[in-house]
Amino acid sequence: MAQVRTYSSRPVLTVNLTALADNYKYLAAKAGGARMGASLKADAYGLGASVVGRALYGAGCRIFFVAHAGEGKILRTAIGPKASIYVLSGNTPQDTAIFFGSKLKPVINSLTQARDWVKAIKDVNHPPRTGLHFDTGINRLGIPPEEADIFASDKALIDALDIDLIMSHLACAGDAEHPLNETQLGRFKKTASRMPMVQLSLANTGGIYLGPKYHFKLVRPGIGLFGGKVTNTPDKEGVKPVVELHAPVLQIKAVKAGETIGYNASFTARTDMKIAIVSAGYADGLPVNLSGSDKRIVTSARLGKHRVDVIGRVSMDYTILDITNYEGFVELGAKAVFFGQDLETQSAHAKMLNYEVLTHLGARCRKIYVNE
Ligand SMILES: *Cc1c(COP(=O)(O)O)cnc(C)c1O
Repeated sequence: MAQVRTYSSRPVLTVNLTALADNYKYLAAKAGGARMGASLKADAYGLGASVVGRALYGAGCRIFFVAHAGEGKILRTAIGPKASIYVLSGNTPQDTAIFFGSKLKPVINSLTQARDWVKAIKDVNHPPRTGLHFDTGINRLGIPPEEADIFASDKALIDALDIDLIMSHLACAGDAEHPLNETQLGRFKKTASRMPMVQLSLANTGGIYLGPKYHFKLVRPGIGLFGGKVTNTPDKEGVKPVVELHAPVLQIKAVKAGETIGYNASFTARTDMKIAIVSAGYADGLPVNLSGSDKRIVTSARLGKHRVDVIGRVSMDYTILDITNYEGFVELGAKAVFFGQDLETQSAHAKMLNYEVLTHLGARCRKIYVNE
């Protein structure tokens, strides 16, 4: 391994903006003629909404989705006045001023939100336009069927809302065989046919892979942009890894056979061992479920060309690797690498969703954005 001259103890999250832009183009091609929106809620899945937003804007994206008005405000500052930013949670009474101040479009999820919005915009010049989100079977946030009937018959309300998007959200898009996809598709078409003719959107990342019937005018991928795979056939998903966690080696030590390693003494050295203490733990988003015990080694990190086992319990700040066979290669400051090309396997090892892993990574790591 090359000589490491200088390093910090702080773990680094690298976000590859070239791979991000490539994934944007790849998903746009998969979505055929549909427009691309980008779902950047939760600080762009933990990767930093401002930088990610600007990179996607640079790649041509002009429609963004966030969960909360506050997220929209940050994104607006980053990307400037031109793009549409929809707030998926809709307007909530405390946030109205943010919607107006940052020109955010609420995604209306209920009659209550619709009526509150119409009241709020009464004396406002050029209020933002809105989206309507119909619940077609996920039974999460969204306008339920009985309220959809009321929207369909209340022309004054619809006019006042100044809608420019009608959307719904799939519950099982990653599973092409699931019958709920067709059910939701049918309900969405039926509901949309009773509404004004504006752009329609149904597909998240998984929905893009379901094919053209699901694309409509606009798609709204999130995880796929960040290299996450969602279907039962991940090998067919051509997105590239975007995110790696780099944890520097802070100490190398010898452990005698019979000693235990880490909290709860959950791993026992059967032979004399060499171990590396690396500087990342669960406070950095490294799942504690990746811990290796006497019963089972769960995962390995990449260290240079090698894969080395994670042993003992992952703690708040540190994780321990077995470098018995590689000691000569490992120097202080060397980087143990997690996720990246291993995002799916390591998420599975941790019994977590790849979405969940990504959103946990941003909290303490220094983020470095690379173009390569
Ligand atoms: C999160 C979200 C998306 C993006 O989903 P991915 O599976 O990450 O592509 C799209 N639409 C809605 C309503 C969402 O909540």
